[in-house]
Amino acid sequence: MKIDIDKEKCTSCGKCKEACPKGAIIWKINDKAKAGNLRYCHLCTLCASACPEGAITVIRDVTDEKKENITEKNE
Ligand code: SF4
Ligand code: SF4
Repeated sequence: MKIDIDKEKCTSCGKCKEACPKGAIIWKINDKAKAGNLRYCHLCTLCASACPEGAITVIRDVTDEKKENITEKNE
């Protein structure tokens, strides 16, 4: 997975960090917002909804979906 931040749009307002349940671990707002430690991210997309600039895209990658599908089939 990946959290894509459009640096052209980001105003460093910090709303993504405030909205994220794991904001203190994941988000760093310095010059621009940056998301790290993504193993703590549970893809709730609250950060993307909270961003007034629409600068955040939460990308759930194909590999993860494949893994989930395999798990579901085995259940
Ligand atoms: S998707 Fe949810 S947990 Fe992940 S960074 Fe955004 S708000 Fe935080
Ligand atoms: S909410 Fe959007 S504009 Fe504000 S710091 Fe986060 S990414 Fe940047």
